[in-house]
Amino acid sequence: MILLDRVTKTYNQKEQALERVSLHVEPKEFVIIVGQSGAGKSTLFKLLTREEKPTSGKIIVGGMDYDKLRDKDIPLLRRKIGVVFQDFKLLPAKTAYENVAFALEIAGLPTVEIKHTVPKVLEVVGLRDKADNYPRELSGGEKQRVAIARAIVRQPKILIADEPTGNLDIKHAWDVIKVLEKVNKFGTTVLLTTHNQEIVNYLKRRVITIKDGKIISDKAVGQYKL
Ligand code: ADP
Repeated sequence: MILLDRVTKTYNQKEQALERVSLHVEPKEFVIIVGQSGAGKSTLFKLLTREEKPTSGKIIVGGMDYDKLRDKDIPLLRRKIGVVFQDFKLLPAKTAYENVAFALEIAGLPTVEIKHTVPKVLEVVGLRDKADNYPRELSGGEKQRVAIARAIVRQPKILIADEPTGNLDIKHAWDVIKVLEKVNKFGTTVLLTTHNQEIVNYLKRRVITIKDGKIISDKAVGQYKL
């Protein structure tokens, strides 16, 4: 599903954010990426979503070779990858329903299909009863679950969750983790970053540790160790 071969990313011709990173992630895997701030985790994600281009090395995602991508391929690529962030990035003037629906509206889907799909996705994240609430009326955990619903509504192959529990108390963090597990169970490859040791140890998934732009460990069932 994801293949990186000796990928290096250098910003401003000096700072090496990633150095010869090679990585293979199978479809439907759930991978946790840990590393201190500045280790290179977000850079890795930005390379996958093509917000940034590698300085050298090869990236292939879902059969798409990034060296061969043309501008017109980018929307298709982004459709394969859903992303959620620590700060949710919801639209404050839209309800939970409208935030999710918006992702389908900009993709040009017909209204009848949007009306059919959005409630189902809100159901998956356990927020059917909050469909008409605005972000300000939702808890942090609920906001993050709306963000997840929005990220998965077009059925991406991969979900990137970049510190999704970073702003949440532990109870709400668990709600979010449970939703990520469910999304993974439905067949989506999940890449998660977290600083929460308890979550890493609970999940019992593959853990990749990045330090100073390099993968320093990659364990099938890893523990949190920095
Ligand atoms: P993490 O997500 O693990 O905190 P990042 O990928 O954000 O790490 O950062 C890795 C390194 O690259 C850091 O040294 C950071 O300062 C640098 N970096 C990240 N983004 C940029 C950028 N747009 N321009 C210059 N340097 C950057």
